[in-house]
Amino acid sequence: MADCIFCKIAAGELPADVIHQDADLLAFRDLNPQAPVHVLVIPRTHWSGLDAVPADAEATLGRLLAVCRTLAVRLGLSAGYRVVVNSGADGGQTVGHLHLHLLGGRGMTWPPG
Ligand code: AMP
Repeated sequence: MADCIFCKIAAGELPADVIHQDADLLAFRDLNPQAPVHVLVIPRTHWSGLDAVPADAEATLGRLLAVCRTLAVRLGLSAGYRVVVNSGADGGQTVGHLHLHLLGGRGMTWPPG
């Protein structure tokens, strides 16, 4: 999508601190980190959010989670971490391209705000 910042990052048209990329996915550090480790994991395909992923692409959802798990090991989050998907207005989603937040490096609280 031409006006999507995450599509531009995936295409290399906007700078980002990319820590993983493969044919389907990209992971980069959040610009406004909410924890010592705050990484966003996105599909290269533009889906506006979780609800927009078609049934025949659901395997990508598993891959997104698997990359979070691999990165958590690589980033030393042995004490634990949190994976968050904000979905829609009530979910607090601000960027309309599906992304998973991988947060770690501090104790998390519950419930989230
Ligand atoms: P959400 O509120 O779940 O849609 O999360 C969007 C996230 O994208 C926020 O944590 C922002 O800090 C982050 N973000 C926005 N623009 C950029 C960017 N250019 N590079 C890295 N992270 C970004």
